[in-house]
Amino acid sequence: MVRTGAQYLESIKDNRCVYIGGERVENVTTHPAFKGISQTVASLYDIAADEKQNMSYITEDGTIANKIYMIPKSIEELKERREAIEKWANATCGFVGRSPDHVAGFLAGFASNPDVFARGGQMYKDNVLNFYKYARDNDLYLSYVIIPPQTDRSKASHEQENEFTAVGVYKEQEDGIIVRGSQMLGTGSAVSDYLFVSCISPLRPGDEAHAVSFVVPLSTPGLKLYSRPSFAADKPSTYDYPLSTQFDEGDSLVVFDDVFIPWEHVFAYRNIDIVRAQFHETPAHVYGNSQAQIRFVMKLKFIIGIARKVAAMNGIDKLPPVQEKLGELASIAASIEGMLLASEYNYMTDENGTVYPNRRFLYGVVGLQDSIYPKVIHILRDLVGGGVLQVPSTYKEMINPETRDDISRYIKSPGASAEERVKLFKLAWDVIGSEFGGRHQQYELFYNGAPFVTKGYAFRNYRYEEVVQLVDQFLESYQIPQKVEEQMI
Ligand SMILES: Cc1cc2nc3c(=O)[nH]c(=O)nc-3n(C[C@H](O)[C@H](O)[C@H](O)COP(=O)(O)OP(=O)(O)OC[C@H]3O[C@@H](n4cnc5c(N)ncnc54)[C@H](O)[C@@H]3O)c2cc1C
Repeated sequence: MVRTGAQYLESIKDNRCVYIGGERVENVTTHPAFKGISQTVASLYDIAADEKQNMSYITEDGTIANKIYMIPKSIEELKERREAIEKWANATCGFVGRSPDHVAGFLAGFASNPDVFARGGQMYKDNVLNFYKYARDNDLYLSYVIIPPQTDRSKASHEQENEFTAVGVYKEQEDGIIVRGSQMLGTGSAVSDYLFVSCISPLRPGDEAHAVSFVVPLSTPGLKLYSRPSFAADKPSTYDYPLSTQFDEGDSLVVFDDVFIPWEHVFAYRNIDIVRAQFHETPAHVYGNSQAQIRFVMKLKFIIGIARKVAAMNGIDKLPPVQEKLGELASIAASIEGMLLASEYNYMTDENGTVYPNRRFLYGVVGLQDSIYPKVIHILRDLVGGGVLQVPSTYKEMINPETRDDISRYIKSPGASAEERVKLFKLAWDVIGSEFGGRHQQYELFYNGAPFVTKGYAFRNYRYEEVVQLVDQFLESYQIPQKVEEQMI
């Protein structure tokens, strides 16, 4: 089934425990911090449910599902998956990182190679497959927390002052496990249906209690979300903060206050090898991150569109130095989009016949995450000048009879009214300067790990054999001269 937005909104009106502003949220769909994002996610489900959008497919079990859950078996299916994800990225201008398609990709990756989980016992393989089908056939929204909380990064999880700082198995029972501790940083978790919980940071011997992988509904007793401040709640209007008000996903520390997880929701149990392998010996990490790259390409296009419009509105777009800056943005965006398409064109196939994007090109972009986005933001910041602050504090000055004439007289450009100009520059500010914009700079830098981690992915997935062979081949083409007159070929 492909859900509608209304069905999704109904599903998250449960007794989930989310704290913000010192209070427990009663209903995330109406609370000012989460209303905008839950409406946005609902609109994504409506897009997918609209047959004209071609976002559904018939699964190998004969059910109808959202393409975000696809396990591609050919380049055509890989392309179909990308085109479906692009529809959602387009609707959010690339500013919603953990929309339901992100973790759906991880689940599809797990289910495509469930034998990795069978290394811990047949039950875990069955659990993965059963849950994947359940999530797919009910079009669920999963978010995830797969990083231990920041406390002391020099110590392993079991060495922390409090053994259950990071989530771990506190007790084993006949019907399941009790988990205790916390995990960072649940983006979108407050408005998702289920959480996927595990650990992608390398675990060390002794960390077995933390080497788990499971799913849990957000309404489970003992599960608590501590949200950071909202960037949507106090805003005067969508006109003033178009991105903050619609796309603030929220990020939460997740606390597990002795939470019961039935066995059927456990994918890996006290197994350091499987917890690592689930991400990298299946296409899970590749699928999740190809979604991230599809979204990122859309975001770059959107930002470049803003830069182009701002330059035209300010009458600077014909100046060669400005065209140089716009050209640099164009080069960045075209290169990243090209890498996305290259990763699809040069697809890889595993032993199960599952097709996934080429790791070299995917992780090549991942390794540049720390430099691309700050550069793009810097160029946009440079192009907009003070125009982003030469705006009235709210839309109210634009409709108040006392002030509106001044605004429309002095804030305008040839061919653009005050309303159009303020609208564009407020959008630019929401990208570069608002708290929402700042959070996005942090997001692009860290969502896939700190820079030393992302460059490690690029290093491990490049496949150096080819380039080393290239050099060896050349080195073998000439030798040390035996005589002075043979010094050149
Ligand atoms: C906006 C945002 C949203 C997020 N959403 C999610 C989410 O939905 N789900 C989720 O699971 N996680 C999420 N995260 C967490 C994200 O995965 C982590 O931020 C990321 O893995 C880095 O971990 P960290 O923040 O603890 O930084 P650290 O790993 O502590 O790194 C901080 C800095 O410390 C240094 N450093 C630390 N350790 C080392 C080392 N071993 N070697 C060299 N240098 C080191 C580096 O300079 C590094 O840049 C999100 C993060 C952000 C910022």
